[in-house]
Amino acid sequence: MKKIASKKSQRLRLAENLCEDHKTRLTLLRRKALEILLNAKTPLKAYDIIELMREAGKRVTPATIYRVLEFLLDRGLAHRINALSAYAPCVNPQSGERHSLVMFVCSKCKKVEEIDDDALNQSMRARLDQLGFSLQEGNVEIEGECKTCMARS
Ligand SMILES: [Zn+2]
Ligand SMILES: [Zn+2]
Repeated sequence: MKKIASKKSQRLRLAENLCEDHKTRLTLLRRKALEILLNAKTPLKAYDIIELMREAGKRVTPATIYRVLEFLLDRGLAHRINALSAYAPCVNPQSGERHSLVMFVCSKCKKVEEIDDDALNQSMRARLDQLGFSLQEGNVEIEGECKTCMARS
């Protein structure tokens, strides 16, 4: 297992470094959006982010937020969860690039879990290559029920 930067401040610093490595900057707005994603327990829709920004005193348009989110996706700092039309922060951003992965999505509480497993990603990629398929966003989403929700029902 790779070491995961757990503290939020650490995650933000790591994001800054990754951006610098890629000759870009984690601007104030990008940083704020990432912070909002890190604070959330479940993935957020673009409009949730706009609302939270407004509460924090920053007025942004949808176009701006989509640009900011695109940036975070490109740098592998966040992932789009298609099943929820929402965004989640990456659990272990290291490459500074979009990475293929498997996402577990709880259909009850909307919690997502990123399965960051190189061997799994590689074998999936190899198989897709064989079939002549390319992954668009690189996400394979598996819907089910998380531990907490299972204990509740
Ligand atoms: Zn990730
Ligand atoms: Zn759940």
